[in-house]
Amino acid sequence: MTAQIIDGKALAKSLRVKFRERVEALRTAGVQPGLAVILVGDNPASKVYVGNKVKACADCGVASFHHSLAADAAEAEVLALIRRLNADAAVHGILVQLPLPPHIDVRRVIEAIDVNKDVDGFHLYNVGGLVVGNSIFPPCTPYGVELLLETTGIDVAGKNAVVVGASNIVGKPMALMLLQKEATVTVCHAKTRDLAQHTIIADILIVAAGKPGLIVPQMVRHGAIVIDVGINRLPDNSIVGDVDFEGVKMKASWIAPVPGGVGRMTVTMLIENTLRSAELRLGKGHGIGHEGWDAAVIP
Ligand code: NAP
Repeated sequence: MTAQIIDGKALAKSLRVKFRERVEALRTAGVQPGLAVILVGDNPASKVYVGNKVKACADCGVASFHHSLAADAAEAEVLALIRRLNADAAVHGILVQLPLPPHIDVRRVIEAIDVNKDVDGFHLYNVGGLVVGNSIFPPCTPYGVELLLETTGIDVAGKNAVVVGASNIVGKPMALMLLQKEATVTVCHAKTRDLAQHTIIADILIVAAGKPGLIVPQMVRHGAIVIDVGINRLPDNSIVGDVDFEGVKMKASWIAPVPGGVGRMTVTMLIENTLRSAELRLGKGHGIGHEGWDAAVIP
């Protein structure tokens, strides 16, 4: 068996076509959707990520407002900027690029964002909402994985879903979203004993550990759907995921490669959340028709 490829680039491209139509509809209703991005310091990787987000906005017709603060900017300065953006009607989404310099309290900064503009989905309200299935904005990477899974046509309900990685931004929210869809979910992390014993039962295997070559074919069940979230730069500068792609594709039924799988979807879902924020402000629903996430706008 050779797995079918889950094509994140193609899905992102088709979603962005629909996004442009939604932007046009919003403009016709008098709303120009806008995303504010805050970068503190000059971490080169963060600069690249911010650049990609600004580019994605331009690609879809979303306005972007880029705020760069010095690495030694005081926490109070960041909080004051967030308060200004919370009150700015031209801004529908606020994203603070992580990581922040160590002298800044990340939680205090994230909690300062208006939950109705928390398009990264990291505010405690949105994180807590995942437990009961009514976050306003699902976090972008697991949200992208969820849509990639939908392209396979699989019904997640009742499947064994194994998530390798338990971070706050990928693994844990991913597990909650799969549980919401009635999968039987196992979450593995660095202290999990005998990882293979868990991965081998997975009908759906999501890997987000940041360890190249972590998942080899012997750990994968025949016919499993495998989504590799990992992004690792090797010494030769190539980018690989956490899964031995060439080996595992001979056992899986579907596989999302790196690059070309989840990466492009993460930024795309950020735009989705931003458009959704603008649409919610107008009192409209949102485009993808995401079942399970109730549109609750906090006054
Ligand atoms: P993270 O915060 O470093 O978390 C990694 C998780 O993997 C932790 O829960 C860790 O366990 C677990 N882990 C580490 N080694 C393991 C092992 N040998 N076996 C099982 N679990 C192990 O990383 P992250 O932010 O979640 O990101 C994970 C990967 O996804 C990275 O490669 C990152 O670059 C990539 N990523 C990609 C996208 C995208 O858009 N494609 C977005 C975000 C992240 P402990 O909790 O026990 O430490």
